[in-house]
Amino acid sequence: MALRRPMVAGNWKMNGSRQLADELVKKFAKLKDDSAEVLICPPTVFLESASRLLDESKQSLDGRLVRLGAQNVSHHEYGAYTGEVSASMLREFGCKYVIIGHSERRRMYGETSDIVADKFATAQKMGLTPILCVGESLAAREASRTFEVISGELDAVIEKVGTLAFDNAIIAYEPLWAVGTGKSATPEQAQEVHAFIRQRLSDVSPFIGEKIRILYGGSVKPSNAADLFSQPDVDGGLIGGVSLNASEFLAVCSIAMNAE
Ligand code: PEP
Repeated sequence: MALRRPMVAGNWKMNGSRQLADELVKKFAKLKDDSAEVLICPPTVFLESASRLLDESKQSLDGRLVRLGAQNVSHHEYGAYTGEVSASMLREFGCKYVIIGHSERRRMYGETSDIVADKFATAQKMGLTPILCVGESLAAREASRTFEVISGELDAVIEKVGTLAFDNAIIAYEPLWAVGTGKSATPEQAQEVHAFIRQRLSDVSPFIGEKIRILYGGSVKPSNAADLFSQPDVDGGLIGGVSLNASEFLAVCSIAMNAE
């Protein structure tokens, strides 16, 4: 992991209130260590106040240390798409990153790999860095189809934007059976898939393979983060449930900051 700056990204999903959001942001804004990049992805309607609070906190002389990301984005740039939010709007609200293809969106909102690839392309075009989520179901793992599923999800994006587009992207490996279940992948299971993803990118561009950050997501908590983050190809985590608990999230951040 030492080759790449680790990242810890908090995905709040559709949780909290304006009050909780403000309280969490104020606590995270006290971070002073930048040896890991810390990102929070609140619900869209809380982005503006989060952005303002982060700016007011003046974490460092040259800007904020805690980054803002969105949980979703439209694959269209603008237009008559009721209820959607565009990448340029998210930029205006202070976002640098956007989560793309989270398993909850693929499963519950019918996001196909094709739509995910379009979202990836639009986000990048409009200046956001996509965090592309990939991961297999329990049935796929049990049928020894993990690599096949991951390859399919990656290839859909690579076919649309090319491998070089991953120069400005992050990948999150999130096995569906570990997301929100309390049952994390073992460090060895995570490392095996992360190494596979890195190798696939390296086959086309060794530079990108070496450079890209691959986060692990799925029931990360303070008690398992150190073992996961110490794997050579695990560059930090995408954190769901625990990201709503300030002390636990900060503990995970601190583990990433000190990971070897
Ligand atoms: C997620 O939603 O991306 C996630 C990893 O959730 P959890 O940490 O709760 O498993």
